[in-house]
Amino acid sequence: MKRCPLSRLEDLFAALAESYKLYIPTDGEKGSSFTLWSEGAEISRRLNTARPPKDFFFPQSEDLMGFKTHGQTVELVDLRTEKEDFALFGVRACDAESLNILDRVFLSEPGDSYYASRREKGVIFTLACNKPAETCFCTAFGIDPSRPGGDVSCIECGEYLYLEPLTQKGEAALERLSAVTEDCDSAEAEPQREKIAKTVSRLPLADLSTEGFGEGKTDELFSDERWAELSRCCIGCGSCTFVCPTCQCYDIKDFKNGSGVVRYRCWDSCMYSDFTKMSAGQPRTDQTSRFRQRFMHKLVYFPENNDGVFGCVGCGRCVAKCPVSMNIVKVMRTLGGKKDE
Ligand code: SF4
Ligand code: SF4
Repeated sequence: MKRCPLSRLEDLFAALAESYKLYIPTDGEKGSSFTLWSEGAEISRRLNTARPPKDFFFPQSEDLMGFKTHGQTVELVDLRTEKEDFALFGVRACDAESLNILDRVFLSEPGDSYYASRREKGVIFTLACNKPAETCFCTAFGIDPSRPGGDVSCIECGEYLYLEPLTQKGEAALERLSAVTEDCDSAEAEPQREKIAKTVSRLPLADLSTEGFGEGKTDELFSDERWAELSRCCIGCGSCTFVCPTCQCYDIKDFKNGSGVVRYRCWDSCMYSDFTKMSAGQPRTDQTSRFRQRFMHKLVYFPENNDGVFGCVGCGRCVAKCPVSMNIVKVMRTLGGKKDE
């Protein structure tokens, strides 16, 4: 393990920026967001960025390829823009885990080469949550906010930032920071981890459990009559899907741009009435079935197809953002169980 005095954080960022395009969370009018680091940029002290770091790997919209016709032939135009290695500093434990969930979707065969190339180029420096929020429930999904994943796991304790490499990419990144870091004993960060564990145990959602969800629950939960009541106030705005670090649905369209055709993709939402609409019609014709789909996917279908891994990381963004205060926590409380029940 390495450590860097917090007073030298700026030097650490400058050293990182020599090798990578570096993004750190900074505060803005609409909360914090990952922004390109420049000298003097202040790291946000908010817990989570308003939008998850998912955008760096699976952007909200992107041009995939272009087509140009030359008589009878069609030329494919490569529109990829990702060329440089980049580093994200300050990714929280929940968001780091969300990338492992997206990996299962985009890197399984046939892999998504756009996503894969960004994952290859990006190095993730996570940061432990010294002050988890009241809307956090990552521990319900087995995530430890004091030991975030990623390539380099960081925690602030006392006067230092402690950095532990978890992958080869992380080790290579840390080697480039030798001028601003020194070796240390990993036990030095333990007091802070214990503090975090105590804080987490007192959070309002600390008793939330995945009991009652997961593999083998499709028949029982799909036909539960309480979906109608749970979904009654949902206005289908899709905000919950757009702030979610694990939502992965998208649409692909072609359009003419004057000099040819461009194929682009953009995020879509299972909460929308025209989602997956086909010539034969719409498979889910009311908001209750759309609402049920979103939560069944995260809590039952995804774990069923992914070795028991749930499709939610408890980041709490949907809890904070839903305009009618409906969210996955209420679904879990209504249809599932609490710890020790
Ligand atoms: S659950 Fe809330 S945020 Fe999600 S679509 Fe319904 S109203 Fe919008
Ligand atoms: S469902 Fe809500 S709490 Fe779970 S990962 Fe998505 S935004 Fe976060």
